[in-house]
Amino acid sequence: VRARVMQVDQSPDVSYADIGGIGEQMDEVRETVEMPIKSPEMFDEVGIDPPSGVLLHGPPGTGKTMLAKAVANQTDATFIKMAGSELVHKFIGEGAKLVRDLFELARQQEPAVVFIDEIDAIAAKRTESKTSGDAEVQRTMMQLLAEMDGFEDRGQISIIAATNRFDMLDRAILRPGRFDRLIEVPKPDFEGREMIFEIHTRGMNVADDVDFADLADLAAGASGADIKAVCTEAGMYAIRDDRVEVTTEDFEGAWRKIRQTEEDADEVSK
Ligand code: ATP
Repeated sequence: VRARVMQVDQSPDVSYADIGGIGEQMDEVRETVEMPIKSPEMFDEVGIDPPSGVLLHGPPGTGKTMLAKAVANQTDATFIKMAGSELVHKFIGEGAKLVRDLFELARQQEPAVVFIDEIDAIAAKRTESKTSGDAEVQRTMMQLLAEMDGFEDRGQISIIAATNRFDMLDRAILRPGRFDRLIEVPKPDFEGREMIFEIHTRGMNVADDVDFADLADLAAGASGADIKAVCTEAGMYAIRDDRVEVTTEDFEGAWRKIRQTEEDADEVSK
Protein backbone atom coordinates (compact mmCIF):
# COMPACT_ATOMS: atom_id res chain seq x y z
CA VAL A 1 0.00 0.00 0.00
CA ARG A 2 2.71 2.38 1.03
CA ALA A 3 4.44 2.13 -2.31
CA ARG A 4 1.29 3.03 -4.14
CA VAL A 5 0.34 6.15 -2.18
CA MET A 6 3.76 7.54 -1.55
CA GLN A 7 5.85 8.64 -4.41
CA VAL A 8 9.50 8.69 -3.44
CA ASP A 9 12.05 10.43 -5.59
CA GLN A 10 15.64 10.35 -4.39
CA SER A 11 16.77 13.03 -6.79
CA PRO A 12 13.96 15.03 -8.40
CA ASP A 13 15.11 16.68 -11.60
CA VAL A 14 13.27 20.01 -11.37
CA SER A 15 15.48 23.05 -10.89
CA TYR A 16 14.63 26.67 -10.11
CA ALA A 17 15.47 27.61 -13.69
CA ASP A 18 12.55 25.47 -14.87
CA ILE A 19 10.04 27.58 -12.97
CA GLY A 20 8.78 30.83 -14.46
CA GLY A 21 6.91 33.84 -13.17
CA ILE A 22 6.80 33.06 -9.47
CA GLY A 23 10.13 34.43 -8.34
CA GLU A 24 8.84 35.91 -5.10
CA GLN A 25 7.21 32.64 -4.10
CA MET A 26 10.41 30.83 -4.98
CA ASP A 27 12.46 33.12 -2.75
CA GLU A 28 10.08 32.58 0.09
CA VAL A 29 10.16 28.80 -0.29
CA ARG A 30 13.94 28.90 -0.39
CA GLU A 31 14.14 30.96 2.76
CA THR A 32 11.70 28.82 4.70
CA VAL A 33 12.67 25.37 3.44
CA GLU A 34 16.17 25.55 2.07
CA MET A 35 17.76 27.60 4.84
CA PRO A 36 16.70 25.32 7.71
CA ILE A 37 18.01 22.27 5.84
CA LYS A 38 21.24 23.85 4.63
CA SER A 39 22.12 26.03 7.59
CA PRO A 40 20.22 24.84 10.66
CA GLU A 41 22.93 26.40 12.86
CA MET A 42 21.82 29.87 11.74
CA PHE A 43 18.44 29.32 13.35
CA ASP A 44 20.10 27.97 16.50
CA GLU A 45 22.44 30.91 16.73
CA VAL A 46 19.74 33.50 16.15
CA GLY A 47 17.53 31.58 18.52
CA ILE A 48 14.36 31.14 16.50
CA ASP A 49 12.56 28.05 15.28
CA PRO A 50 12.36 27.52 11.55
CA PRO A 51 8.81 27.47 10.18
CA SER A 52 7.16 24.12 10.79
CA GLY A 53 5.22 23.65 7.61
CA VAL A 54 4.71 25.60 4.43
CA LEU A 55 1.34 25.72 2.73
CA LEU A 56 1.28 26.58 -0.96
CA HIS A 57 -2.12 27.64 -2.21
CA GLY A 58 -3.43 28.78 -5.56
CA PRO A 59 -5.08 27.60 -8.77
CA PRO A 60 -4.20 24.23 -10.34
CA GLY A 61 -1.14 23.94 -12.55
CA THR A 62 0.74 26.98 -11.27
CA GLY A 63 3.92 25.22 -10.16
CA LYS A 64 3.31 24.23 -6.55
CA THR A 65 4.59 20.70 -7.03
CA MET A 66 7.52 22.02 -9.04
CA LEU A 67 8.54 24.36 -6.22
CA ALA A 68 8.57 21.53 -3.72
CA LYS A 69 10.59 19.33 -6.07
CA ALA A 70 13.07 22.09 -6.88
CA VAL A 71 13.77 22.79 -3.23
CA ALA A 72 14.31 19.06 -2.62
CA ASN A 73 16.67 18.97 -5.57
CA GLN A 74 18.58 22.01 -4.37
CA THR A 75 19.07 20.60 -0.88
CA ASP A 76 19.86 17.05 -2.05
CA ALA A 77 16.83 15.91 -0.14
CA THR A 78 14.59 12.98 -0.94
CA PHE A 79 11.22 14.11 -2.26
CA ILE A 80 8.31 12.18 -0.78
CA LYS A 81 4.88 12.96 -2.15
CA MET A 82 1.51 11.87 -0.92
CA ALA A 83 -1.87 12.98 -2.26
CA GLY A 84 -4.55 13.80 0.30
CA SER A 85 -7.32 12.47 -1.91
CA GLU A 86 -5.66 9.10 -2.30
CA LEU A 87 -5.11 8.87 1.42
CA VAL A 88 -8.77 9.07 2.20
CA HIS A 89 -10.48 7.70 -0.87
CA LYS A 90 -8.34 4.81 -1.96
CA PHE A 91 -7.25 3.27 1.26
CA ILE A 92 -10.21 3.54 3.54
CA GLY A 93 -9.27 2.83 7.13
CA GLU A 94 -5.55 3.23 6.45
CA GLY A 95 -5.23 7.02 6.46
CA ALA A 96 -3.81 7.50 9.95
CA LYS A 97 -1.41 4.63 9.54
CA LEU A 98 -0.21 5.94 6.21
CA VAL A 99 0.49 9.32 7.75
CA ARG A 100 2.56 7.61 10.45
CA ASP A 101 4.41 5.63 7.79
CA LEU A 102 5.01 8.78 5.81
CA PHE A 103 6.81 10.48 8.67
CA GLU A 104 8.73 7.35 9.53
CA LEU A 105 9.91 7.11 5.95
CA ALA A 106 10.94 10.77 6.02
CA ARG A 107 13.03 10.17 9.14
CA GLN A 108 14.78 7.27 7.43
CA GLN A 109 15.45 9.29 4.30
CA GLU A 110 16.53 12.52 5.98
CA PRO A 111 17.13 15.11 4.57
CA ALA A 112 13.68 14.90 3.09
CA VAL A 113 10.97 17.13 1.72
CA VAL A 114 7.53 15.75 2.47
CA PHE A 115 4.96 17.07 0.02
CA ILE A 116 1.27 16.58 0.79
CA ASP A 117 -0.77 17.49 -2.26
CA GLU A 118 -4.51 18.27 -2.05
CA ILE A 119 -4.34 18.66 1.68
CA ASP A 120 -7.95 19.88 1.62
CA ALA A 121 -9.01 16.24 1.17
CA ILE A 122 -7.93 15.49 4.74
CA ALA A 123 -8.23 18.95 6.27
CA ALA A 124 -11.50 20.52 5.14
CA LYS A 125 -13.74 22.45 7.49
CA ARG A 126 -16.44 20.19 8.79
CA THR A 127 -19.19 22.27 7.28
CA GLU A 128 -17.74 22.51 3.81
CA SER A 129 -17.03 19.00 2.76
CA LYS A 130 -19.18 15.98 2.35
CA THR A 131 -16.42 13.76 3.53
CA SER A 132 -14.85 15.76 6.32
CA GLY A 133 -17.47 14.71 8.83
CA ASP A 134 -16.27 11.24 8.14
CA ALA A 135 -14.53 9.80 11.20
CA GLU A 136 -11.83 8.32 9.03
CA VAL A 137 -10.90 11.67 7.51
CA GLN A 138 -10.85 13.23 10.97
CA ARG A 139 -8.55 10.51 12.25
CA THR A 140 -6.19 11.03 9.34
CA MET A 141 -6.02 14.74 9.97
CA MET A 142 -5.52 14.26 13.74
CA GLN A 143 -2.62 11.96 13.00
CA LEU A 144 -1.05 14.55 10.73
CA LEU A 145 -1.40 17.25 13.38
CA ALA A 146 0.01 14.92 16.02
CA GLU A 147 3.03 14.18 13.85
CA MET A 148 3.63 17.87 13.28
CA ASP A 149 3.07 18.86 16.90
CA GLY A 150 5.42 16.12 18.04
CA PHE A 151 8.13 17.29 15.74
CA GLU A 152 10.28 19.04 18.28
CA ASP A 153 13.56 17.94 16.96
CA ARG A 154 12.59 17.81 13.37
CA GLY A 155 16.04 17.37 11.98
CA GLN A 156 16.29 17.93 8.27
CA ILE A 157 12.73 17.22 7.32
CA SER A 158 10.56 19.85 5.68
CA ILE A 159 6.85 19.62 5.23
CA ILE A 160 5.16 21.33 2.34
CA ALA A 161 1.45 21.02 1.62
CA ALA A 162 -0.54 22.29 -1.34
CA THR A 163 -4.15 23.10 -2.06
CA ASN A 164 -6.26 24.89 -4.59
CA ARG A 165 -9.17 25.11 -2.15
CA PHE A 166 -7.67 27.33 0.52
CA ASP A 167 -11.05 28.64 1.61
CA MET A 168 -12.13 25.10 2.51
CA LEU A 169 -9.34 24.40 4.96
CA ASP A 170 -9.88 23.76 8.62
CA ARG A 171 -8.08 26.63 10.33
CA ALA A 172 -6.67 24.21 12.91
CA ILE A 173 -3.96 23.19 10.48
CA LEU A 174 -2.73 26.77 10.15
CA ARG A 175 -1.85 27.27 13.81
CA PRO A 176 1.71 28.07 14.86
CA GLY A 177 3.83 24.95 14.83
CA ARG A 178 1.76 23.50 12.01
CA PHE A 179 1.39 25.00 8.53
CA ASP A 180 2.42 28.42 9.75
CA ARG A 181 3.89 29.77 6.54
CA LEU A 182 1.34 30.49 3.81
CA ILE A 183 2.53 31.18 0.29
CA GLU A 184 0.08 32.05 -2.43
CA VAL A 185 1.05 30.78 -5.88
CA PRO A 186 -1.04 32.68 -8.44
CA LYS A 187 -1.48 32.24 -12.16
CA PRO A 188 1.33 33.96 -14.06
CA ASP A 189 0.99 37.55 -15.25
CA PHE A 190 2.10 38.66 -18.71
CA GLU A 191 5.81 38.51 -17.93
CA GLY A 192 5.42 35.22 -16.16
CA ARG A 193 3.67 33.72 -19.18
CA GLU A 194 6.40 34.99 -21.46
CA MET A 195 9.02 33.37 -19.26
CA ILE A 196 7.12 30.09 -19.08
CA PHE A 197 6.79 30.00 -22.89
CA GLU A 198 10.53 30.47 -23.06
CA ILE A 199 11.14 27.66 -20.60
CA HIS A 200 8.89 25.14 -22.32
CA THR A 201 10.21 25.86 -25.81
CA ARG A 202 13.86 25.56 -24.79
CA GLY A 203 14.27 22.21 -26.44
CA MET A 204 11.89 22.92 -29.32
CA ASN A 205 12.65 23.82 -32.89
CA VAL A 206 10.81 27.12 -32.97
CA ALA A 207 10.57 29.31 -36.11
CA ASP A 208 12.36 32.67 -35.99
CA ASP A 209 9.17 34.68 -36.28
CA VAL A 210 7.72 33.29 -33.04
CA ASP A 211 7.46 36.08 -30.49
CA PHE A 212 7.03 35.03 -26.87
CA ALA A 213 5.54 38.35 -25.88
CA ASP A 214 2.82 37.88 -28.49
CA LEU A 215 2.17 34.38 -27.23
CA ALA A 216 2.00 35.63 -23.65
CA ASP A 217 -0.50 38.24 -24.76
CA LEU A 218 -2.59 35.68 -26.56
CA ALA A 219 -2.62 33.21 -23.69
CA ALA A 220 -4.13 35.56 -21.11
CA GLY A 221 -5.49 33.59 -18.18
CA ALA A 222 -3.35 30.52 -18.85
CA SER A 223 -1.63 28.65 -16.03
CA GLY A 224 1.88 27.26 -16.35
CA ALA A 225 0.41 23.81 -16.99
CA ASP A 226 -1.77 25.29 -19.77
CA ILE A 227 1.29 26.86 -21.39
CA LYS A 228 3.15 23.59 -21.27
CA ALA A 229 0.17 21.90 -22.94
CA VAL A 230 0.07 24.64 -25.62
CA CYS A 231 3.74 24.10 -26.46
CA THR A 232 3.32 20.34 -26.79
CA GLU A 233 0.17 20.77 -28.87
CA ALA A 234 1.90 23.32 -31.12
CA GLY A 235 4.59 20.72 -31.76
CA MET A 236 1.86 18.23 -32.68
CA TYR A 237 0.45 20.64 -35.24
CA ALA A 238 3.86 20.83 -36.90
CA ILE A 239 4.25 17.06 -36.90
CA ARG A 240 0.79 16.52 -38.41
CA ASP A 241 1.77 18.94 -41.12
CA ASP A 242 5.04 17.11 -41.69
CA ARG A 243 7.19 20.04 -40.57
CA VAL A 244 10.00 20.07 -38.02
CA GLU A 245 9.77 23.76 -37.23
CA VAL A 246 7.01 25.09 -35.01
CA THR A 247 5.42 28.33 -36.19
CA THR A 248 3.36 31.13 -34.69
CA GLU A 249 0.26 29.67 -36.30
CA ASP A 250 0.90 26.33 -34.60
CA PHE A 251 0.99 28.07 -31.23
CA GLU A 252 -2.16 30.03 -32.01
CA GLY A 253 -4.03 26.93 -33.07
CA ALA A 254 -2.78 25.05 -30.02
CA TRP A 255 -3.93 27.81 -27.68
CA ARG A 256 -7.42 27.83 -29.23
CA LYS A 257 -7.60 24.09 -28.82
CA ILE A 258 -6.43 24.04 -25.20
CA ARG A 259 -8.81 26.85 -24.29
CA GLN A 260 -11.69 25.05 -25.96
CA THR A 261 -10.88 21.83 -24.13
CA GLU A 262 -10.98 23.69 -20.84
CA GLU A 263 -14.24 25.40 -21.64
CA ASP A 264 -15.76 22.05 -22.53
CA ALA A 265 -14.53 20.58 -19.28
CA ASP A 266 -16.02 23.49 -17.33
CA GLU A 267 -19.30 22.95 -19.13
CA VAL A 268 -19.35 19.27 -18.17
CA SER A 269 -18.59 19.98 -14.52
CA LYS A 270 -21.36 22.57 -14.21
P1 ATP B 1 -1.96 21.05 -9.07
O1 ATP B 1 -2.59 21.96 -8.09
O2 ATP B 1 -2.84 20.76 -10.28
O3 ATP B 1 -1.28 19.84 -8.48
P2 ATP B 1 0.58 22.43 -9.29
O4 ATP B 1 0.44 23.85 -8.94
O5 ATP B 1 1.22 21.50 -8.34
O6 ATP B 1 -0.80 21.90 -9.79
P3 ATP B 1 2.61 21.58 -11.10
O7 ATP B 1 2.32 20.11 -10.97
O8 ATP B 1 3.80 22.09 -10.41
O9 ATP B 1 1.35 22.39 -10.68
O10 ATP B 1 2.65 21.99 -12.65
C1 ATP B 1 2.25 21.09 -13.66
C2 ATP B 1 3.15 21.29 -14.87
O11 ATP B 1 2.87 22.57 -15.45
C3 ATP B 1 4.62 21.33 -14.52
O12 ATP B 1 5.19 20.06 -14.61
C4 ATP B 1 5.18 22.28 -15.56
O13 ATP B 1 5.46 21.61 -16.75
C5 ATP B 1 4.04 23.25 -15.82
N1 ATP B 1 4.14 24.47 -14.97
C6 ATP B 1 3.26 24.86 -14.03
N2 ATP B 1 3.63 26.03 -13.48
C7 ATP B 1 4.79 26.39 -14.06
C8 ATP B 1 5.67 27.50 -13.91
N3 ATP B 1 5.42 28.47 -13.01
N4 ATP B 1 6.78 27.54 -14.68
C9 ATP B 1 7.03 26.55 -15.58
N5 ATP B 1 6.24 25.51 -15.78
C10 ATP B 1 5.11 25.40 -15.04
